[in-house]
Amino acid sequence: MQTLELYKKDIYQGALILVNDRYHYDESYTSTKQVEYLHHFIHHDAFRMLHHFFEKYSFDQDITIVSAYRSSQEQKDIYEESLREHGKEYTKSFVAMPHCSEHETGLAIDFALKQDDIDFICPDFPYDGVCQQLRELSYQYGFVERYTENKQNITHIAKEPWHFRYVGFPHSLIMREKNLCLEEYHDFIKQYSLFNPYTYVVNQKVIEIFYVPLQQEKRTICLKDHMVYQVSGNNIDGVIITAWRTCL
Ligand SMILES: [Zn+2]
Repeated sequence: MQTLELYKKDIYQGALILVNDRYHYDESYTSTKQVEYLHHFIHHDAFRMLHHFFEKYSFDQDITIVSAYRSSQEQKDIYEESLREHGKEYTKSFVAMPHCSEHETGLAIDFALKQDDIDFICPDFPYDGVCQQLRELSYQYGFVERYTENKQNITHIAKEPWHFRYVGFPHSLIMREKNLCLEEYHDFIKQYSLFNPYTYVVNQKVIEIFYVPLQQEKRTICLKDHMVYQVSGNNIDGVIITAWRTCL
């Protein structure tokens, strides 16, 4: 057996944190380094995977990054500028309020097809050609298309074909297979506990995923040996543990 110590602050950091109009982002909890890539700052874990598949498929020839990490002050400025230029209806649909934007985590990236005139808020990222190729591949590398039309009633953000969110592998694949947005995925994983984990098999690897509630400042849990564990908060009330079995 091995033990894992979890602290309340763990709720608020990691690749799976939910940031929306209900669960706000508090950057004081995170110690993650943002890495500069293609003139933008990106969360270190998201950068590692993005860099890997961007280079492998030479996406930088046709696709550019429009926006990645933004400070809450920058988010505030964008929100206010959009209000002035486009009005309330448009801004509420496409621009998150300060502290409600995934961009403040560095885990969200807006892509655009390279062209002369790129719209900063709603860039062109169609469902065909090289953009669709990136979209299809992104799930293999831990990214999801975060705001789709059929989930708008849950996310409260209009369809954004350009906005991708790093959630980590294999969560991206499970979300796609089960057609779950991040809000729904957290509800789904909450059904699974340390003693009743969700088991997912991919590339001959067995992965166990489960939720641990954290009400107290510190909690110690006992975990099986021969597993490698990753911990991410949900930004609500607990953490999700992803356990990779090192031998069958
Ligand atoms: Zn975005």
